[in-house]
Amino acid sequence: MAYQRRKTRPVWVGDVQIGGDAPIVVQSMTTTDTRDPEATLRQIHELADVGCEIVRVAVPDRIAAAALADIVPRSPIPVVADIHFEHTLALKALEAGVHKLRLNPGNIRKPEEVREVVQKAKERGVPIRIGVNFGSLPPMTREFVDEMAARGATQTELIAEHMVRTALSHVKILEDLDFGDIVISLKAFEVPVMIEAYRRMAKLNDYPLHLGVTEAGTPKAGAIRSAIGIGTLLQEGIGDTIRVSLTTDPVEEVWVAYEILKTLGLRERGATLVACPTCGRVEVDLFRLANEIDEYLRTVKEPIKVAVMGCVVNGPGEARDSDVGVAAGRGKGVIFRKGKIVRRVEEHEIVPALKEEIEAILAERRSG
Ligand code: SF4
Repeated sequence: MAYQRRKTRPVWVGDVQIGGDAPIVVQSMTTTDTRDPEATLRQIHELADVGCEIVRVAVPDRIAAAALADIVPRSPIPVVADIHFEHTLALKALEAGVHKLRLNPGNIRKPEEVREVVQKAKERGVPIRIGVNFGSLPPMTREFVDEMAARGATQTELIAEHMVRTALSHVKILEDLDFGDIVISLKAFEVPVMIEAYRRMAKLNDYPLHLGVTEAGTPKAGAIRSAIGIGTLLQEGIGDTIRVSLTTDPVEEVWVAYEILKTLGLRERGATLVACPTCGRVEVDLFRLANEIDEYLRTVKEPIKVAVMGCVVNGPGEARDSDVGVAAGRGKGVIFRKGKIVRRVEEHEIVPALKEEIEAILAERRSG
């Protein structure tokens, strides 16, 4: 099936467009204490450097809300204030100039308080993301459970539909106030639930969808869960912005997000490393070579494909297909550039030789 992106309305977060014909936007969230503007800004800069396009900060109290006035004007990328329950925090965040709110209006008790926040967001052209998480769903009603049982719904479908209806109840509050600058997320740790929820929501309206697998976990397991959940939906054309949640430095989240997007051919950023897993044929220390090149490539922002292959069986094919590559063999390496052999080097010269060739290609591109 040809890739066809779901049509969504464009929503602007500062100068970044989500939905419409915009590329899939990469987001992350700071892990610093928002009440410490310097530490938070340092992390925002680190995130922006690796390609984060929108950053979310938690706003748990008044001091954090006050710190936004210091953070937002100095942030290189649009800032989203993550707020729960307290409408006064949302008002303060809007006054500080945040570019988006993550807020579930149904969790604010008084309708007049919701109206006040929505009015102010509208005046300032600030969108609102309704973020429903599996972990904080309201209880299901007996009627709803019976209705789904009568339809023969599975447990996954039951929870997914509950998430969708919960999100729609928040959407309705905003729509009734004539507010349509909405982004929706439906995150769950269970990937089949999350996929089902987004698929259902995608059929119901044209609001852009923010994809994520919540509490995905430590870097390895979390990256896999996120790649499967987010990747499956993106491949179906569903999703306009993504956030990978990992229990580690958020810079890693941005790397994983771009790997997902690059794997699907949806964004280009930085280098792509092709490396063989090695096998009994390998005759160099390929793990070391690949890791050293991987580390170096993290500093490269332009798209470039580099292959590090262990032997002459598959090596030359992949190496030739890349911008730069090495096919190693018995303590030596054949270096390819744009499909042509450019030199043969000793094992200890492989990494410097690859770096030189990469630099040369990038320099050529820049100059012409
Ligand atoms: Fe093994 Fe060579 Fe394939 Fe690497 S490229 S996995 S060393 S056969």
